[in-house]
Amino acid sequence: MKISDLRFTERKWDFVKPFHIANSVSSSKVNIEVELVLADGTIGLGEASSSFRVNGESNESIFQLRAEMLEAIKGLDARDYRRVFKKLDAYSRSAPSLKAAVQFATLHAFSRVISTPVYQILGGMKDFVETDKTVSIGSLEETVNDAREIFNAGHKVIKMKVGEDLQSDIARVLAVNDEIKGVKYIIDANTGYTPKEALRFIDAMYRNSIPVGIFEQPVPAEDFDGLKIVRQGSMYPVGADESARTKFDVMRLIKEGAVDYVNIKLMKSGISDALAIVEMCNSAGIGLMIGCMSESGIGVSQSVHFAAGTGAFMYHDLDSHLLLKNVEPVGFRQERDRQYPILF
Ligand SMILES: [Mg+2]
Repeated sequence: MKISDLRFTERKWDFVKPFHIANSVSSSKVNIEVELVLADGTIGLGEASSSFRVNGESNESIFQLRAEMLEAIKGLDARDYRRVFKKLDAYSRSAPSLKAAVQFATLHAFSRVISTPVYQILGGMKDFVETDKTVSIGSLEETVNDAREIFNAGHKVIKMKVGEDLQSDIARVLAVNDEIKGVKYIIDANTGYTPKEALRFIDAMYRNSIPVGIFEQPVPAEDFDGLKIVRQGSMYPVGADESARTKFDVMRLIKEGAVDYVNIKLMKSGISDALAIVEMCNSAGIGLMIGCMSESGIGVSQSVHFAAGTGAFMYHDLDSHLLLKNVEPVGFRQERDRQYPILF
């Protein structure tokens, strides 16, 4: 099972409708599909959805790394995947999404040879996970319509994007809550608030009895003190996303008592740091959710297998394939909000 080649292909995906989060709107996304080839011809698949906003990566920069990355892992045995992971950890800061894709492709190649799905190689804790679906920033009417559609499709957790305009953010959440009963919310400000705005937002949620599961990344990524202030003033759990990229970031967040939850994304951490973060947070009593960037079918599969395999997550925000046009789930089956990982 020796690694012999690495191939990258760019693929462009359009969003069903422009995806609007605090201070960023996307209408399409170009991802990199990875094929990791073993000496016997077995191919392991992976997908990198780079993020300049979060990781400082661009496709142009990570595409260039192919030859160097291949050199680092060529000849290693996919069964010894921790050795491959260790080599790829060198890319934790420069190309985390690519690190994730190649690490997954290694596991996937191994999984194909032994006819065992990746989630079972990772521990097989769950047979399926349940994903939320996201309402991006929009008008009051759009927001309510999107949320109703998500509820009707069977999702029990709705993720709402806020962080651009405090008053309209509050009005949007309250309008949805008037319309729909029996769901829980993950509210994501994507770094858009100051600590004071975040506390005003939380106060409005609490006074209106909004069932918020996690208030995610209220303040800028580097503002750990701000996160801590919000956490201490919040009746709801506060989570870090943009602040929590590597295991070292999460170690610091835990030490500083800055969060109740961490949002793990393979695109920020790769499989190796994600595994470390799971164990750290379990030990520290910090809750976990898993999220995604703009992955298509293969990329979401990576996270479904990771989440089902480790069984570590209270919330799953693995919906990017539902937000992009013409995506087929590749390594999982989607039934309403349930995602069943399969051998692929
Ligand atoms: Mg987030």
